Amino acid sequence: MPKRSRSQLSRNSSQARASKIRRNEESSSETENRLSIHRQYVAQSRARESSTERSQRLAEQNMRTAQIRARESSLQRSQRLAEQNVRTSRVRARESSLERSERLADQNLRTSQARARESSLERSQRLAQQNLRTSQVRARESSLERSQRLTEQNLRTSHVHARESSTQRLQRLEEQNIRNIQSRTRESSSERFQRLQDQRERQQTSRARSRNQVLAHSNRSAFRYDPQIDYAQQSSVQIGDMNKICPKCSAKKWVDETNGMCCASGKTAHPGRYNAPAVNEVAVLLVDEEKGPRDIVLHGRDGQLKGSLSYTDRMIHYSIP
Ligand SMILES: [Zn+2]
Repeated sequence: MPKRSRSQLSRNSSQARASKIRRNEESSSETENRLSIHRQYVAQSRARESSTERSQRLAEQNMRTAQIRARESSLQRSQRLAEQNVRTSRVRARESSLERSERLADQNLRTSQARARESSLERSQRLAQQNLRTSQVRARESSLERSQRLTEQNLRTSHVHARESSTQRLQRLEEQNIRNIQSRTRESSSERFQRLQDQRERQQTSRARSRNQVLAHSNRSAFRYDPQIDYAQQSSVQIGDMNKICPKCSAKKWVDETNGMCCASGKTAHPGRYNAPAVNEVAVLLVDEEKGPRDIVLHGRDGQLKGSLSYTDRMIHYSIP
């Protein structure tokens, strides 16, 4: 840029002042006219530009913009972005559907051209920045916003999937598989560990959620008994068989019992003796044995004596079904 003398600068600024005053006084049709002349002038000078001049002009413009942005306060920045959003949505609202699809196609073309020019470093930088922006936005989300976003996303995805032909569906699934395999082979061992851990956490959350749903469903169901429901078949009632064996103490347990429930995971010592009687004398009379006054006598339905416990001071007869 050539050096300008002080008198030239002051002449320029006095000219700028004068044209500012003129602009304030012009009618809206005069403004429209002036701007259209200016646009013509700009378009003509751009058409005369060589490609070097063009890249210089754009580089200078980028630099000026970056300098201005660097001086912006955060308030000015959010005001600028808000104004820009308003202008953009006004323009978009006036668009015909043809203009809209043309604009999106142009944008797609520009994006794919820019992506094709990217080096692998630029690509990973772009993706890292994008990830950062996304995680910042997600961190600011309220739980309501989060569930709305996920619901909308699910809706869009299921619309897209519903319009798919069976060939497209197969192709999509196959491409997804390939992408999965590729990303798994690029994974470092710590990334793999992290992925599997995240997966486990997601599974646990979803299991806990469905368990809570079952519990909420059957809450107080004893007071609202419905004979149409087969309660025995419900997953919260089905506790399975007592066929889990503790590896430390060999106690028999149900599948949902915790590891520590029998022997605190081997910390208390009764190896192999869980469920065993606490006293040496087992008070069972043999069939046809003489019984004393403190015996419990068990009779079968056929009247046969099945066994008894020497336990109380009364004779108690049990019927075994
Ligand atoms: Zn145990």
